[in-house]
Amino acid sequence: MQDILLVGGGLGGLATALALGQAGVATQLFEQSPAFTEVGAGIGLGPNALRRLQGWGVGAALQAKGFVPSQLEVMDAKSGQQLGCLPMAKAFEQRYGAPYLTIHRADLHQVLLKAVQTEEKTQLHLGHRLQQLQSKTSCVNSQWQDPQGQVVEHASQALIGADGINSKLRELAWSSSKLQASGHWAYRTLLPRHTLPAAWRGDAMGLWLGPRLHVVHYPVRGGEWLNVVVLVETDDAAQTPGWDSQRSAAQTAHDLQTALRGSCSSLQDLVRMSESWRAWALFDRHPLQSADDMAQGRLALLGDAAHPMLPYLAQGAGMAIEDADTLAQCWMQAGLSVEQRLHAYAQARWQRVAKVQARARRNARLFHANGALAWGRDLAMRWGGATVMDMPWLYGR
Ligand SMILES: Cc1cc2nc3c(=O)[nH]c(=O)nc-3n(C[C@H](O)[C@H](O)[C@H](O)COP(=O)(O)OP(=O)(O)OC[C@H]3O[C@@H](n4cnc5c(N)ncnc54)[C@H](O)[C@@H]3O)c2cc1C
Repeated sequence: MQDILLVGGGLGGLATALALGQAGVATQLFEQSPAFTEVGAGIGLGPNALRRLQGWGVGAALQAKGFVPSQLEVMDAKSGQQLGCLPMAKAFEQRYGAPYLTIHRADLHQVLLKAVQTEEKTQLHLGHRLQQLQSKTSCVNSQWQDPQGQVVEHASQALIGADGINSKLRELAWSSSKLQASGHWAYRTLLPRHTLPAAWRGDAMGLWLGPRLHVVHYPVRGGEWLNVVVLVETDDAAQTPGWDSQRSAAQTAHDLQTALRGSCSSLQDLVRMSESWRAWALFDRHPLQSADDMAQGRLALLGDAAHPMLPYLAQGAGMAIEDADTLAQCWMQAGLSVEQRLHAYAQARWQRVAKVQARARRNARLFHANGALAWGRDLAMRWGGATVMDMPWLYGR
């Protein structure tokens, strides 16, 4: 009964299990899938996230599997001309105490899982799906479907939902704000870097901005692969977040080439280099309004369960990692009840996360702008350079 129960073993759930485990807190994590897996492609970790991961002792393992881009180069998708450049590797380390790291999601997940498995007070349960709960003044009773299809019950002092964008805990305990379909799609692929022309084998991270689309690419897996993501704004809003399983890879590649028609030839060439694209429908929620959106009584939410966002600031996992760190710190505060600790966590987090959610939406408008807004954006980047591209408010905290 003394344990904290965690729902979900994605990046946020594992980060929380690790932070709590290292603080000596007995935790049980329940993941609905029969195995720990992380699909998808690359992920960017800002110094704000990496500093916390380093603090948990996994920095070296991550750096061995990831890649530290030398700089961020922002390009005009139509003309192919450079708009601005932000030095990142050493400059970030000096300014923020950690570099910007790009890594395959599966590698990040694996490093976290391995670290969690060494924590004595942490138990992991696969194949357990949260179904119901009753939150009482003295404890939380939760019911789970186990791998045999039986319902098992657990009592805990707190229940933390790290169960992603379709969070069951949120559905059961919060009068939920609606998920918002953005009409934006992320097309993702990985290319073996040694097969690419020299122009695509550099050490920089690339960001190409065009009307109603942008493209991001960076190396992962120690530099062996180039992760490419094309984000396209459409009038075709998906019904549910996640992979588009309806379209074949060839059809997806064709749709993508159509979306990139007005772009420069080098960007079109890059996209033609892969036929195995997968499309991911993007959803978010309105930015958080108060601490109550993250914690109520003995229940709390974190990561995408609490604050799903568009990936236009590359901070969804970063915010989940920050949540995990703050939750563990608040849990260790002496003289507070369970409810007060969770409230302290939500109070410490909600405004920062709301700002990141709002900025991600703003970036959607800026990145995909046309006309006067695009002209102003490009001018600011050309004249302001690194000063307008850096984000000390985000990376420095
Ligand atoms: C295209 C794209 C690019 C992105 N790029 C970046 C980036 O560069 N940097 C960055 O920081 N973020 C990025 N993100 C965001 C990031 O991927 C997410 O914010 C992050 O993975 C959320 O982690 P999570 O643990 O909160 O949720 P999830 O990863 O969704 O994990 C939730 C887990 O809970 C489990 N679960 C669900 N329901 C139940 C239940 N009832 N019972 C038990 N278990 C359950 C699921 O099986 C899953 O394992 C990107 C997102 C997208 C779509």
